[in-house]
Amino acid sequence: MNIYDVTIIGGGPAGLYSAFYSGLRDLKTKIIEFQPKLGGKINIFSEKMLWDVGGQPPILAGDFVENLKQQAMTFDPTICLNSKVHEIRKENGVFVIETTDGKYHYSKTVIIATGGGIFSPIKLEIEGAEKYEMKNLHYTIKGLERFAGHEVLISGGGNGAIDWAVELLHVAKKVTVIYRKEELTAHEAQIKKLREYNVDILLNAEITSLLSNEDKSKIETAVIKQNGQILSINVDDIVISHGYNREVSLHFAPEIEPEKKDNYCLVSTGQCKTTVPGIFAAGDIVTYNDKVGLILGTFQDAVLAVNSAKLYMEPEANEYGMVSSHNDKFKEKNQQILERKFA
Ligand SMILES: Cc1cc2nc3c(=O)[nH]c(=O)nc-3n(C[C@H](O)[C@H](O)[C@H](O)COP(=O)(O)OP(=O)(O)OC[C@H]3O[C@@H](n4cnc5c(N)ncnc54)[C@H](O)[C@@H]3O)c2cc1C
Repeated sequence: MNIYDVTIIGGGPAGLYSAFYSGLRDLKTKIIEFQPKLGGKINIFSEKMLWDVGGQPPILAGDFVENLKQQAMTFDPTICLNSKVHEIRKENGVFVIETTDGKYHYSKTVIIATGGGIFSPIKLEIEGAEKYEMKNLHYTIKGLERFAGHEVLISGGGNGAIDWAVELLHVAKKVTVIYRKEELTAHEAQIKKLREYNVDILLNAEITSLLSNEDKSKIETAVIKQNGQILSINVDDIVISHGYNREVSLHFAPEIEPEKKDNYCLVSTGQCKTTVPGIFAAGDIVTYNDKVGLILGTFQDAVLAVNSAKLYMEPEANEYGMVSSHNDKFKEKNQQILERKFA
């Protein structure tokens, strides 16, 4: 049985920084993440600019994820992707973490960093739509360049949809927004921008079918129903922004069920400890007074959770990790960085 010191559930910013810090504290570390890639919720908005992370000039969220991942790998944690944790129980003093693919992971401590749960985009309910997903039907925008000179139809009226529409204004040849309600619900300033550019906004409208080109390789026309009338719009791309389904099915065996708030968030009793010894929590999932629900808050939680895990396993250990500037663990790595810099 391969027993880890710390197993982190969730590979978002809280999980990734926990992995870095856990390595800094000499703990054998594993991350289990449901999605096929690390980064958590930030992957939903990877083309947006982040301004509010301390010490970080404005940066594309996708690039920021790459930095987080690079830092998380500093001490070579084990990474398990495409693995959804189904249940956590405790047997003979060791946590047993069961994933839905039937695998078992063993750990002395667990850090829950599952954020708001597993997010997946709400899909277009049109028969056969899925076959265009790798072509010109999109549920997220990974890079704006792909849309250069294209006619893009955006379905949705919330912040996500309207933010994309605004970003695409300067890239696409034409942007059309359709929304099933009577009014857009996004921020007013963003809606104003769309109106300034005379973007076609079709309200009380929804896509009813998709017509493909001759070789059926992509969607050519979206058929839309608006106020009972049928319209056809030629498209190069369709972006669907109908929100996200959130799945929160992580179970704890009854004897190690931590206290929750609002039936989901894990209550911290201080230092990101849950009410169950050996189980800690970091990031959006943990709740306490003065909690900062931002990326920067996840870093503080990660440090607290890892230090708590360390003390749980080694009560005589230092309460805090040593600062990185004076930490011998980085001696060799510092040397390599300096050599590269002055090469
Ligand atoms: C649209 C949007 C814009 C935002 N903009 C900003 C911003 O500008 N600045 C800022 O500071 N913050 C921003 N935030 C908030 C920020 O994204 C979150 O605070 C941060 O991502 C929380 O990180 P986390 O690691 O706690 O959780 P998450 O990022 O949610 O990561 C949790 C991870 O756990 C995984 N997971 C969940 N359950 C399981 C399971 N059972 N098994 C395995 N894996 C599981 C999920 O797949 C996910 O990858 C924004 C959020 C949104 C939605």
